[in-house]
Amino acid sequence: MSATDVSVLADYAPIPRAALGPALNEQGYYVDRVERNLYWVTDGVYQCAFLTTSDGVVLLDAPPTIGNNIQRAIDEIAAANGVSNKVEYLIYSHHHADHVGAASLFDKNATRIGHEETRRLLLRDDDPARPPNEETFQDHRTLEIGGERIDLAWHGPNHSPDNILIHLPDHDTLMLIDIVNPGWVPIYQSNLSEDIPGYLEAPANALAYSWKHFIGGHNGRLGTRDDITLHQQYMADLVESSRKAIDSVDGTPYYQQFGENSWAAVKGILDETARRAAAPVAEKYTGVLAAADVFTEDVAFQVMQSVRLDLGYGSWVHP
Ligand SMILES: [Zn+2]
Repeated sequence: MSATDVSVLADYAPIPRAALGPALNEQGYYVDRVERNLYWVTDGVYQCAFLTTSDGVVLLDAPPTIGNNIQRAIDEIAAANGVSNKVEYLIYSHHHADHVGAASLFDKNATRIGHEETRRLLLRDDDPARPPNEETFQDHRTLEIGGERIDLAWHGPNHSPDNILIHLPDHDTLMLIDIVNPGWVPIYQSNLSEDIPGYLEAPANALAYSWKHFIGGHNGRLGTRDDITLHQQYMADLVESSRKAIDSVDGTPYYQQFGENSWAAVKGILDETARRAAAPVAEKYTGVLAAADVFTEDVAFQVMQSVRLDLGYGSWVHP
């Protein structure tokens, strides 16, 4: 690795305090009860959760950045409550390495559960850090583990093809990873999402369930229903602003300027469209959602592409 000269990096607006979570302990994690025997763990950037049950621990995701602190957090809670600290079940939210890349730290005989597409993708990726889930489902599956109910549901592709909703009705909690980052804007292409229409629809699917606590996978705090609504408003504003930007950019001068170099013209036009789509939204949400000034232009680029290519907005047919 080589050092980066950080003096050239941009200065950004201060982070709203409400975006930040509780302080981490000396080992670099924070663990706390969500409700009853459901707990969540964070390293300030990533999150996972676990249930302590009479059939052992059910672990929901295993981000490698939290890594061995996951078991430390479980040990801490199990010791305090006099219950088993052994992870007997792992539930995968989706196949991405940054959320389940510590799965191999746990007993290889633990039961691993996830979407059928998660299994297919993990078999494809063949990463020893992420043993494929043997247990799968297609649309819905209800688990009863140690008397605790966990509802798994797949509503179609969004962030990834296999990303699922995990509802814990008896804990008033919903877990949906990499869609809404409570208190923060999404990073890059709507949290690096593969399917933007699916990404835009996912928060409404989450709100259709009854719950109070939201586990989004990022960053340092849990979310509320208001966090989901605010995120929806931010994304809706970007869609609306993208339409206006598509209407407002005239491509002619770019083609005149760059002549035969079509890609230079296309880059000029699309970058300018993304800038115009992002500008009013970044301004509106700076101080409201953390890093609105950092990532809104990147998010706007892909939202604008989806408005053009998925919705066909501004599509022009040669006369
Ligand atoms: Zn992901």
